[in-house]
Amino acid sequence: MWSNVIHLINEKRRFILTTHTNPDLDALGSEIALDEYLRSLGKEVSILNSDSVPGAFRFVDPERRLRTFSPGRHRETIREAEVIFVIDASGGWDRIGRVGNALADAQATVVCIDHHPDPVDFAHVALVDPDAAATAELIFKLITQAGGVITPTIARALYLAILTDTGSFRFPKTSPETHRIAARLIEAGADPAQLYKQVYEQYPLERVRLKGYVLNSLRAEADGQMVWCALDQATLKAYGVAPADLDGFPGLGMEIGGVRVSVLCVEMPKGRVKVSLRSDGSVAINGLATELGGGGHPSAAGATVEGDLAQVTAQVVAGVKVLLTTGQSRRCPATVP
Ligand code: 5GP
Ligand code: MN
Repeated sequence: MWSNVIHLINEKRRFILTTHTNPDLDALGSEIALDEYLRSLGKEVSILNSDSVPGAFRFVDPERRLRTFSPGRHRETIREAEVIFVIDASGGWDRIGRVGNALADAQATVVCIDHHPDPVDFAHVALVDPDAAATAELIFKLITQAGGVITPTIARALYLAILTDTGSFRFPKTSPETHRIAARLIEAGADPAQLYKQVYEQYPLERVRLKGYVLNSLRAEADGQMVWCALDQATLKAYGVAPADLDGFPGLGMEIGGVRVSVLCVEMPKGRVKVSLRSDGSVAINGLATELGGGGHPSAAGATVEGDLAQVTAQVVAGVKVLLTTGQSRRCPATVP
């Protein structure tokens, strides 16, 4: 599985790493780990992302390896790149945002490493394992198969990625292999207590208060099998929290017994709504996310949809109701719930 990529790594010198918009810690941790490994081989590496690192995740990059793409500054880097690694971001160049447009025209070999079951026809080489709990598991395998050393920096970055993408080792894809890899990362220098604290116990007061607001605003539907919440811009502004800092909020409704699907709709600038769907695994919600123009995993998926917050929320809630009763993913007309 890995020999093509290992061959490319050995043969080529200039690499670009990139990931999806609104990057999470699986995306960023995987990029940092691969960057560290490639640099240890003496390669030239640039990590170019469309979005800057969300405030809550800045600690993951003390050496400031992650760069926000700028067309003027990075044109030459893209022109000279020999290999582009697209990490944690199947689905096409759109999923990667602004930098995707620039990379789509590059001459380099495109390698996609991911665990999303979305299309990969944009890549020359695709290493996709939808059973992996995090893309970081695949980066770990690549580095170890290639004979690389798991340095403390790699161990911390990959552990953070796995910790967060598995919801602290509880989501359905968490496997014995996930735990075996985590064990190796701990042996290589990742400190579970310290990393947990960095991710989950360093929030500003405003975000914790906003969590209270979301919990208070949850609405139940379909005999309590679904809960949803719609967050508008005014509320986000009043609490002083950015949409990029809502990681974990979509799953809050899953704490309730009997809930199979949890929906969070967040009003974004320019008349768009970010839809996040979570499922307990009894129903796959990525089909609905794909219908809405996004994608994702069976139990965690999402999309960004043009439209008004109330209308989009109504459409999604209706779609989830259909899903819960028929198991079919269908884009539904909006009826205000
Ligand atoms: P979240 O709801 O946390 O933003 O995203 C959960 C999962 O849904 C992500 O890991 C990703 O797989 C998927 N996802 C969210 N938004 C999009 C999107 O716009 N396009 C695609 N293809 N997947 C998305
Ligand atoms: Mn991931």
